[in-house]
Amino acid sequence: MAKIGVFVCHCGENIAAKVDCTKLTAAMESHPGVSIATEYKYFCSDPGQESIKKAIVEQGLTGVIVAACSPRMHEATFRKACAAAGLNPYLCEIANIREQCSWVHSDGDEATEKAIEITRSLVEKVKRNNELQPILVPVTKRALVIGGGIAGIQAALDIANAGGEVVLVEREASLGGHMAQLSETFPTLDCSQCIMTPRMVEAAQHPNIRLLTYAEVEKVEGFIGNFHVRVKMKARYVDMYACTGCGDCIQKCPQKKISAEFDCGLANRPAIYTPFAQAVPNKPVIDRQHCTYFKNGKCKVCQKVCQTNAINFDMEDEYLDLEIGAIVVATGFQIQNTSLYGEYGYGRYPDVVTGLQFERLASASGPTGGRIARPSDGKEPETVVFIQCAGSRDPSKGVSYCSKICCMYTAKHAMLYAHKNHHGTSRVFYMDIRAAGKGYDEFTRRAIEEDGAGYIRGRVSKLWEENGKLMVRGVDTLLGRPVEVPADMVVLATAMVPQPDAKEFAKTLGIGCDEYGFFNEAHMKLRPVETATAGIFLAGACQSPKDIPDSVAQASAAASKVLALFSREKLEREPIIAMNNEATCSGCWGCVLACPYNAIEKKDITDRAGNLIRRVASVNPGLCQGCGTCVTFCRSNSIDLAGFTEKQIFAEVMGL
Ligand code: SF4
Ligand code: SF4
Repeated sequence: MAKIGVFVCHCGENIAAKVDCTKLTAAMESHPGVSIATEYKYFCSDPGQESIKKAIVEQGLTGVIVAACSPRMHEATFRKACAAAGLNPYLCEIANIREQCSWVHSDGDEATEKAIEITRSLVEKVKRNNELQPILVPVTKRALVIGGGIAGIQAALDIANAGGEVVLVEREASLGGHMAQLSETFPTLDCSQCIMTPRMVEAAQHPNIRLLTYAEVEKVEGFIGNFHVRVKMKARYVDMYACTGCGDCIQKCPQKKISAEFDCGLANRPAIYTPFAQAVPNKPVIDRQHCTYFKNGKCKVCQKVCQTNAINFDMEDEYLDLEIGAIVVATGFQIQNTSLYGEYGYGRYPDVVTGLQFERLASASGPTGGRIARPSDGKEPETVVFIQCAGSRDPSKGVSYCSKICCMYTAKHAMLYAHKNHHGTSRVFYMDIRAAGKGYDEFTRRAIEEDGAGYIRGRVSKLWEENGKLMVRGVDTLLGRPVEVPADMVVLATAMVPQPDAKEFAKTLGIGCDEYGFFNEAHMKLRPVETATAGIFLAGACQSPKDIPDSVAQASAAASKVLALFSREKLEREPIIAMNNEATCSGCWGCVLACPYNAIEKKDITDRAGNLIRRVASVNPGLCQGCGTCVTFCRSNSIDLAGFTEKQIFAEVMGL
């Protein structure tokens, strides 16, 4: 006979302010099969959980309902409490009377009635629940880190230094990401490459890290602890092992006028190139699109000059299949297409540049050797205007969020400019200054007070050329009047946006992303580095705009999650998986086609002599994610979901 305990949580005022918890408790007390119904302010607290445990033991409960918040929040907490009291945790259910009731209703009476209905229906379900046992799966102790920027490198090094095996995949020809492009970093003004390049070398030389550059993750299958990953190794046309990195081929390549991506188009590169001088690995690749040989079948100069026969035009893309236990996604960001801002004249006036281009101009390894010079004539600008929020916080251009880093890097740019051109003038158009971070506010003050950056609060409405000057018109909203500043150079603090293929890649990984394409964390506050897909973690600006310290901190957090996973020999998985009744299965394979995780296999039923009698569907418990899609497809009604059988669902519905 069922002996159900119902525990009604007030959730402070969250539930009790709207739902009459005493009335709900009384209604449950009289419901058939309920042995005890009680209410408390916070059942998730220690005393709350203790009272549930006590009731289970004293009353010999066969099932528990906690009427509280979303199961996402505390299902695990209450199931653990039940297990500690000796009750199978899958005999505990959560009636969500917060998100589905108190938070969405204004009328208290209606909310109370609804809470009674929700709780009653769960009581009816739990009466039909069965004891379930977690599934144990082995763990492959090898991590895949996708993205070789600072976040990916940090995550890879943290895992590798703790003894874990790592495969680090970077789609460009070198590690480094955007950080390698920067000049100095805020708020300490230390040289970005001086911090970055030793980390790149360390990652490349680490015995526990297998580095795959110029490679892309094509396919991810499987589940936590047991992912099967296919990586495409793009043809470099240069044999990495034979090449000594001497650079002879780069020198002699006749195609010299290709816009260099690393220098944001401010310099040129040949068709065979390394992205930058300190690239890791320091081996070139051939840009097939611009190579004379690939275009018209003639040239091969690089092959002729190469002493080690490293150039191989017959090279083809290769595929690597890897067994992986956990994945850290650190694919980074891009900057917004600046042509969206016609009023700022980017693309029309060569001396209107992006913040990233300014970084290259200010960088000692950049095209001007660190001299801040105008792209149009190479002269040092006497007045530079910086325009913040060029794209960010502007819903009309599709980016309503703050890009977080621009206030700080603009202050840094103004400072660098003042340090390099002592007589120059800098003006910064801003909306607000957002400088939340250790030493950040002091840093922006330093730009203003010590380095003379003139901040003007207001948006720029127009930019045009007049008498060899760029005229910047805006409004000074503090003085309440329009301003016009003649400038020699304009720098746009462009919005930080997700990688262009982020939404597509989220599908490959089976994780979620927000409306913009930034990857979603499982829970903003409690699980900020996990995704909703177990075993896949996030690091850096692929999740949201982030600066270097935040990216590094998140990468280390993701690495610690991976290491916690690798500390176990076997993983426990939820037993909520599909179960097929082989006796009634007609072998129509509707479920095989429907299953998004390829979790259903065809199984032969044979007689004792080994003769095939029939073929049925069989669920692989390791792959099944319990989504229930197959259940809806099965025409012979053979598949049920453990914990959500048809009997349970009907009882739940009938309880309403
Ligand atoms: S074959 Fe292509 S990469 Fe080699 S030298 Fe000629 S243009 Fe450059
Ligand atoms: S519930 Fe069915 S469709 Fe969903 S993953 Fe499992 S087997 Fe595949």
